[in-house]
Amino acid sequence: MARVYNFSAGPAVLPEEVLKEAAEEMLDYKGCGMSVMEMSHRSKMFQQIIDEAEQDIRDLMNIPDNYKVLFLQGGASQQFAAVPMNLKKNGKAAYIVTGQWAKKAAAEAEKYLEVQRVASSADKTFTYIPDCSDLDIDDDVDYVYICENNTIYGTKYHELPNTKGHTLVADVSSCFLSEPVDVSKYGVIYGGVQKNVGPAGVVIAIIREDLIPEEVDSTVPTMLQWKTQADAGSLYNTPPCYGIYICGKVFKWIKKMGGLDAMKKRNEEKAKILYDFLDNSKLFKGTVVPKDRSLMNVPFVTGNEELDAKFVAEAKAAGLENLKGHRTVGGMRASIYNAMPIEGVKALVEFMEKFEKENA
Ligand SMILES: *Cc1c(COP(=O)(O)O)cnc(C)c1O
Repeated sequence: MARVYNFSAGPAVLPEEVLKEAAEEMLDYKGCGMSVMEMSHRSKMFQQIIDEAEQDIRDLMNIPDNYKVLFLQGGASQQFAAVPMNLKKNGKAAYIVTGQWAKKAAAEAEKYLEVQRVASSADKTFTYIPDCSDLDIDDDVDYVYICENNTIYGTKYHELPNTKGHTLVADVSSCFLSEPVDVSKYGVIYGGVQKNVGPAGVVIAIIREDLIPEEVDSTVPTMLQWKTQADAGSLYNTPPCYGIYICGKVFKWIKKMGGLDAMKKRNEEKAKILYDFLDNSKLFKGTVVPKDRSLMNVPFVTGNEELDAKFVAEAKAAGLENLKGHRTVGGMRASIYNAMPIEGVKALVEFMEKFEKENA
């Protein structure tokens, strides 16, 4: 068996230990004679899996007691609609547009309320995070929305925007559990887990309790009302059981690795190897303003499309997979999530050095 280094932006690399453990438990989970895939979501066994998963993510992120943790379906994209549906009071929200995902979220929200786009980095193809220290936000907006790590463009907010007292909602799909976070600064944090936490099919939403409305517009689907899911402990209907089980294993892996402080240190170390190389390379160039660089997604180019394609193909042949940039950006992108070992980043940089020499 030969595993590749998988730099995919998502679904993405998972810790090998977790995959091995899941494989061992595939046919018989802890002596119950069946797989978690075959288990009733109403069983004691599964209740224990989801309870433990919730407790572990609470421990990792230090989530205050007045926040609910929901394990949902429909991907991050479903929350683009659920956020305005649940938070709509005055019927207005402020969006900061830093890439495709924020753009899509704003467009979706516009179906349900008035959207003010209070800042954007579209003028420079989203290669930076706009200054959000003094935004022109109306007093009556229901929330301020950000995409905290921009998976496609490789930027990250290293400082949260000044929301002027308004509720902050953040899509953290591609930086979930990559570093410590002060949950109390947010009203809602959510993310699809297939980037940094688990298999596709689960989205985790962490929502301050007072933001979960008792009543919403009667046209809001029952499944999209946060209250439905919060009251039922994420078990209103059949949840993505197997996905939640794998997320739980990843939480335990992160705990074992030393928690989010250790993750941050490890991620910084990995990213530095790659960014240092890019900053000194004569062939490759990082595309993001250095101060806004993401630790998770690293886009780069040679400036020559043919050479980019050659690089991606030769890297693949060398066991370095999924380095092609997003179709809207071109070039290359290395996603180096929590589960990417430092050896993978070193192997990538070595390969880039070799490629640079051969193509000088
Ligand atoms: C991938 C991604 C999404 C979309 O996730 P789905 O689960 O496919 O809906 C949304 N936001 C960000 C930041 C992403 O990286």
